[in-house]
Amino acid sequence: MQATIALLPGDGIGPEVVAEGVEVLKAVGERYGHSFSFSEGLIGGCAIDAHGTALPEATIDVCRAADAVLLGAVGGPKWDDPKAKVRPEQGLLGIRKTLGLYANLRPVTVTPALASRSPLRPDLVEGVDLLVVRELTGGIYFGDKTCVYIRPDEEQAVDTCVYTTSEIERVVRRACELARTRRGKVTSVDKANVLETSRLWRRVASRVVAEEFPEIQLEHILVDACAMHLLRRPADFDVIVTENMFGDILTDEASMLAGSLGLLPSASLGAGKAGLYEPIHGSAPDIAGKGIANPLATILSVALLLRYSLGLKAEAEAVEKAVYATIDAGILTGDLAPAGQGRSTKEVGAAVLERLG
Ligand code: ATP
Ligand code: MG
Repeated sequence: MQATIALLPGDGIGPEVVAEGVEVLKAVGERYGHSFSFSEGLIGGCAIDAHGTALPEATIDVCRAADAVLLGAVGGPKWDDPKAKVRPEQGLLGIRKTLGLYANLRPVTVTPALASRSPLRPDLVEGVDLLVVRELTGGIYFGDKTCVYIRPDEEQAVDTCVYTTSEIERVVRRACELARTRRGKVTSVDKANVLETSRLWRRVASRVVAEEFPEIQLEHILVDACAMHLLRRPADFDVIVTENMFGDILTDEASMLAGSLGLLPSASLGAGKAGLYEPIHGSAPDIAGKGIANPLATILSVALLLRYSLGLKAEAEAVEKAVYATIDAGILTGDLAPAGQGRSTKEVGAAVLERLG
């Protein structure tokens, strides 16, 4: 098949890990006879430096013209001033919103090799295979924000959390469709004892499942309880669906089941086939430029890209197998390897390519 993939390497370790993802795409293209072409755009801090905005029009055009987008990470200390009008993360929020990518899929799979290296009890995390579906274009991230002086010495800040019925319906539907192809269980996470948006969330989720997915087993749990159960019985979860900020927090927590942020991929999907794929980690300024970042989260994001945007199931599975074989062989960057034994980003990328054949 022919496909165009837009590359948005971004800042910090973004370019280092995206480079490895591109190598994998090229290898898949060669091995399976696909013709992938690449286009590139600036996003985040590097775009601010070049154009004064975190999301230039040219970048949006490049993404719209592509079949899928592979993104690295944005941000870093250089652009950290919270008072600045233009900030790197506006690029990320902007591109998700512009492309209408409302469902963010974050799978967490713990293989035996990962379980044995886990900072948690291996028997607890072994067999974990869960998928968090995080709502991505609503909630407190996009509601009105104000910060005003209510007295000369007292400021008041407000973040507004907004959800509509249709925003909840479409993401719950997507979660149920995915659960159908897995173990058929959906856990909807909210804070319905406190938040009005969560009460609506719970009602809508119950209705969508009852009317459209009667075969799905639905459970509701509060986000605080979910945080606890993720550490107590993580293998019980199949698909977790939740609103934007709860999903952000729970997936950082869930990443530790696998052992490192550097391992977790994500797919952001909208109504069509096009999607945006990125590691869940940030730009990791503390290790940027050193060539030691873990490229596996990005390479696993490439597998999701092949599966969800290009419909290349066998290719996606081959990439995932190559990644897990690399982990099994103990070829690991410093975030997973024993102290002092970490391999470089390029060495780990090359090990995956070798196992792809
Ligand atoms: P963001 O706000 O963009 O989510 P963050 O503040 O959560 O960013 P990250 O950039 O994700 O922070 O980094 C958190 C920690 O995890 C850092 O110590 C970083 O070095 C480490 N880390 C993140 N990604 C990787 C990776 N791919 N390989 C190795 N270590 C990583
Ligand atoms: Mg983070």
